[in-house]
Amino acid sequence: MSDFINSTGLLGVPTDWDSLALVRPGGEVVPDEVADPLWEQFEEALAATYRLAEELPTTQTVDVASALLATGGWEALDPVAVAIERFYIDYEYAVPAAELAVRGLAAMYRPDAAETVDYFVTDPRGFAHVVRRLLADAGIPNTASPPPNRLRLNTTVTDVAYGETGVCVTTADGRRFGADYAVSTFSVGVLQAALMTGAARPAGAITLTPPVPAAKRLAISSMKLADYVKVFARWDEPIFSETDPLFLLPTSCEDDRWIDVHNLNHAGNMLPGGANVLLLTATASYGRALTCQAANVTAAAIASIVSSIAGRPVPPPTHVTLGQWYADPLFRGAYSATPPGFGADGVPLVGRVLGFWLLWLFTVPALRARKPEKAEKSAWNVAFLGMPLLNVAAPFVSRDPALIWSADVALMVAVFVWYVVLADSGDGGGGSAKEEVKIRGWLRWLDWGSWK
Ligand SMILES: Cc1cc2nc3c(=O)[nH]c(=O)nc-3n(C[C@H](O)[C@H](O)[C@H](O)COP(=O)(O)OP(=O)(O)OC[C@H]3O[C@@H](n4cnc5c(N)ncnc54)[C@H](O)[C@@H]3O)c2cc1C
Repeated sequence: MSDFINSTGLLGVPTDWDSLALVRPGGEVVPDEVADPLWEQFEEALAATYRLAEELPTTQTVDVASALLATGGWEALDPVAVAIERFYIDYEYAVPAAELAVRGLAAMYRPDAAETVDYFVTDPRGFAHVVRRLLADAGIPNTASPPPNRLRLNTTVTDVAYGETGVCVTTADGRRFGADYAVSTFSVGVLQAALMTGAARPAGAITLTPPVPAAKRLAISSMKLADYVKVFARWDEPIFSETDPLFLLPTSCEDDRWIDVHNLNHAGNMLPGGANVLLLTATASYGRALTCQAANVTAAAIASIVSSIAGRPVPPPTHVTLGQWYADPLFRGAYSATPPGFGADGVPLVGRVLGFWLLWLFTVPALRARKPEKAEKSAWNVAFLGMPLLNVAAPFVSRDPALIWSADVALMVAVFVWYVVLADSGDGGGGSAKEEVKIRGWLRWLDWGSWK
């Protein structure tokens, strides 16, 4: 982000994550002796979760972050612990740990990841400045009238027809654009809406022709664009001062709807042209509720949580602004979250196990059935006898079918190199010079291909 900020000239302030207080209802700050051990306990469990996640085979379908955190020794038993977990998980991923896959944990937050500087973007020009800057760098300084055949801004796509010969994109103004290929960067929410059929299909959803194949539909529909709502609230008077912490985390037995209150009056964080602003974050069902409830209900809820943190009555804010990401047909959600099981290989266990046993059942017998030279026959005979031993022993080391399949292939390559490639050099098994390895006695009953 710092590279991005520097390269585009976007204005922002580095986030001071240490300027943080957990606050009980009534305004009492949770003392460090209570909070610090819980932060440490959570961080240790999170580190353990990352380590465990690395060991999970790609076929693992059960990878719920909360389960792995529990395995790592974390249990959010009281409101302070709940607030800590929510600040780490819900605040970052917009879903609770029970709805998040360990595959969805960000690499940049690995305990051993390099330190980075996070920025809070305060640029009054908004992220649109980045677009204008990129266009200017590309020689298109006037975004109000960009070259009509090269670039179209504020143009809504309504239909995408694709096939062997190319793609045809239709926009809301009725224009059609043809190309060999098209790159789609619609959000997951927009794609999910495009896949919906019947009464569930939202008005204005993009039409895809032909319909997307079932496997892709299922994959896209399984992803999650979660609700993440940032509410900016402004008062005529300052609520918190520039010496108050930047992040205030409410801890309450009854109310864990808000994740944090971000004090934008904190030194250096004041928004240009406007002080007395607090930024509150809510996710999941409460985030969704905020986007459809009446403004005065939201203002009253803000007054309640801010009063609780401040330890004194605070009136409702005079202005409230929040993003309508879910309702916006161009986004249909705010934040990508990886649900448990997403991305795992969905093939049932029997099918996955069959994957590596097939080498023994078919590949090796087929190679032997070619009646190869003595040396090569020896190689496949050894592979035929060694592979079942390997397949039975390997799961004690790893249950990843892809790994076991690779071990089987490695065995085949190794015996081939030993008996055939090295045979004449005198280094290897000297297959042609030595006795042929034969399958004898009761072992012949394993040789089901010829069953003799
Ligand atoms: C409140 C909030 C806070 C966030 N905070 C952070 C943060 O602190 N750090 C961080 O890294 N990320 C944050 N994110 C996430 C970040 O903004 C997104 O991950 C990122 O913008 C996704 O980029 P994208 O290009 O994939 O999709 P988008 O930015 O959603 O781009 C998709 C584009 O497709 C366009 N589009 C959609 N439908 C059509 C159509 N029919 N026709 C034409 N165009 C269409 C949309 O207008 C949009 O411009 C936050 C998101 C939200 C909502």
